[in-house]
Amino acid sequence: MKRIALAAALAFMPALAPAYAADAAKPVPPTYAWDLGDLYASPEAWTAAHDKALAEAGKLDGYKGTLGKSAADMLTALNAISTVHRQVDRLSVYASLKGDENVTIAPNQEREQLAQSLAAILAEKTSWLTPEILSIGAEKVKSFEKQSAELDRRFGFILDNILRAAPHTLGAEAEDVLAAAGNVLAQPDNIYSQLSNGELPFPTLTLGDGTKIERLDQAAYTSYRQAPNREDRKKVFDAFWGTWQKYEGTFGADLNTQVLAEELDAKVRKYPNALSDALFADNMPEAVYRQLVAQANAGLPTFHRYLKLRKKLLGIKDNLTYYDMYPSMFTLSHPLKFTVEDSERIGLDVTSVYGPEYTAMLKKGFSGRWMDVLPRKGKASGAYMNGSAYDVHPYLLLNHNDDYESLSTLVHEWGHAVHTLLDDETQPYEKSNYSTFIAETASISNEMLLNDYMVAHAKSKEEKLYYLGQGLELIRTTFFRQTMFGEFQLAIHEEIEKGHALSGKHLSDIYCGLLKHYYGDAKGVTKIDPAYCIEWAFIPHFYYGFYVYQYATSMAGAAAFTNAIETKKPGARDRFIAMLKAGGSDYPYDLYKKAGLDMASPAPYRALIGRMNHLMDEIDALEVQK
Ligand SMILES: [Zn+2]
Repeated sequence: MKRIALAAALAFMPALAPAYAADAAKPVPPTYAWDLGDLYASPEAWTAAHDKALAEAGKLDGYKGTLGKSAADMLTALNAISTVHRQVDRLSVYASLKGDENVTIAPNQEREQLAQSLAAILAEKTSWLTPEILSIGAEKVKSFEKQSAELDRRFGFILDNILRAAPHTLGAEAEDVLAAAGNVLAQPDNIYSQLSNGELPFPTLTLGDGTKIERLDQAAYTSYRQAPNREDRKKVFDAFWGTWQKYEGTFGADLNTQVLAEELDAKVRKYPNALSDALFADNMPEAVYRQLVAQANAGLPTFHRYLKLRKKLLGIKDNLTYYDMYPSMFTLSHPLKFTVEDSERIGLDVTSVYGPEYTAMLKKGFSGRWMDVLPRKGKASGAYMNGSAYDVHPYLLLNHNDDYESLSTLVHEWGHAVHTLLDDETQPYEKSNYSTFIAETASISNEMLLNDYMVAHAKSKEEKLYYLGQGLELIRTTFFRQTMFGEFQLAIHEEIEKGHALSGKHLSDIYCGLLKHYYGDAKGVTKIDPAYCIEWAFIPHFYYGFYVYQYATSMAGAAAFTNAIETKKPGARDRFIAMLKAGGSDYPYDLYKKAGLDMASPAPYRALIGRMNHLMDEIDALEVQK
């Protein structure tokens, strides 16, 4: 599903909540509101389409047992299923977007529930499909693909992907047991949400200037950890992490259960370990994950250079500590302002390096009513692109606040939108669902191009330093931090695989070891206080399986591509565009390889480390001039 939210990636970034006042009296220009009429003329039209799709979904089990008869029968059945899927995607997009326009309207929430239950019915009515294809077997399926060009062109990749799972698929009885247990095995995430977002008693705190924080929860922590006053930052860290620390045992038992559930799935499905189970869906070689970890470790001297620069710029005389990571290294004497028009103009200029085809698509998007762009009371927060309506066009939700972060977010999300357009124009619906592994490269590349552009076009030394600092923070939070999370996940699974047990205390010890290693504690770069080693308990992504590593690999891929495109390396731009056009027609590792990048090799990670050093070289040069 092509619904790409930036929120997850940004969850760990130093960002203040937008400080806007929703102004109901100010009219919104029509071009700043999306037109859902392109999906359905009215809510009534949606309901009619929903009822039609529901009826059609109900008939799909009629195709059960027909796929093995002939190539034509297989095509007929798959086409019928695909047609309903396509309608359900479109219905879901409308329901979700309509809901996000105003999250307080009950009929909108009901429509979203209807769309979700329709998707569940579709899954239930086609649950026989995978077992049936597996029982037909690779040999017969391949011979059908030879007989029917259309079957091969549209469904060849999906069929290959299903057949690949044969060695990890169990008998009917065992599959039924696993399906029935699925809900139980998914509970650690619910327990985590209940505790961390509901019942954890967050403290109150008074800062040095008398500011009283009524509830130091995740959102407040994200804001106040940036406090320019060092004493305040320490207070925020001590109070916040002290609260989590009290529940170390409970969070530990919960995360242990999550890891055990993943290990159980790997064991019964005959994967060598939980990592290979998790990477199977994307057919991603384990070598990619391990190379990422190895290269982040090899890049630690560069990371330590950054930390020393941070210490110098913040004017810290004694030890740099973990609570010194979030305040901005460069502040501006006047705020930067980018209206939506500015952001669009800059976005077009920045991405012109991709060539005329990309530019034309971006212009077309900007001229259509595809975006709900301004913040408004009741509207969903954050930013995302939803490109699941294959027959219509992508939609984007933003909360543009006229600052640099808003500009960067707009350019990021439109990277997803143009990727979707290039993909949908080239691929049949059945091959248009690209992987997250590729998706974030398309958007982070845009952010990097933007950052370089802003550095080049800065009006003053102060602005230039600010943009260079922003570029550095993006790498610290996305590459080093997320890879450290990835290494932690690997370490805790390996503990269980070795037959060891995981308690909350043991998890904190493992996390402490990694924090000290990454932040150069023994080298005197940063002093890590063990009181903050409970941070692992705060990260919701550990309940999503091995997932966060993709932020880091995407960023490395983006660094390699932008570097090649900016330096006009022959063919680089065309290979990048071809990768975007390839959509979901192949496995992401192979698509990268075709574009000239082996994600299991050190090259992309070295490109990113090179970029980080380059940004610091520029800062050093400007600092010397000061
Ligand atoms: Zn994104």
